[in-house]
Amino acid sequence: MSNRTFAIIKPDAVRNGYLGQIIDRIIQAEFVILGAKLIRMTREQAEGFYAIHRGKPFYEELTRFMSSGKCMVLALEKENAVAAWRKTIGATNPADAAPGTIRKDFASSLGENAVHGSDSDPNAEQEIAFFFSESELIAAK
Ligand code: UDP
Ligand code: MG
Repeated sequence: MSNRTFAIIKPDAVRNGYLGQIIDRIIQAEFVILGAKLIRMTREQAEGFYAIHRGKPFYEELTRFMSSGKCMVLALEKENAVAAWRKTIGATNPADAAPGTIRKDFASSLGENAVHGSDSDPNAEQEIAFFFSESELIAAK
């Protein structure tokens, strides 16, 4: 079991002024932030990152949205990080997200759902490597 996962605070959350509150949720949930960057993805980056969804009906809209403004990419560490972060963010559709989850509290729609979380250990490692070099990740003390 890996202890790392990858998160994005998506453009809707940054635009709506929730960046600080979501970082606070990350800290309150006792994740260690190994790396964080405020970036604006190019369309090509968004298409590459979400290549697994290529061909799905929402792919065009998703990659346009993800490249529409600033977002924050983060590498997070915690025991059983992938599952722990998925639990912290809640269901993909905020309408189905449990009370107290990030998506319940900060997401506006299925597409613009405030945050990303990796869905498996291998994908977490691949997604971290998509945006960070290992030397940029600062281990917990
Ligand atoms: N998405 C969408 N419509 C859908 C399903 C997904 O717009 O019907 C978007 C949404 O932003 C979601 C992302 O595509 O977060 C990736 O979808 P996935 O099923 O991997 O959900 P996640 O892992 O983010 O919960
Ligand atoms: Mg996913």
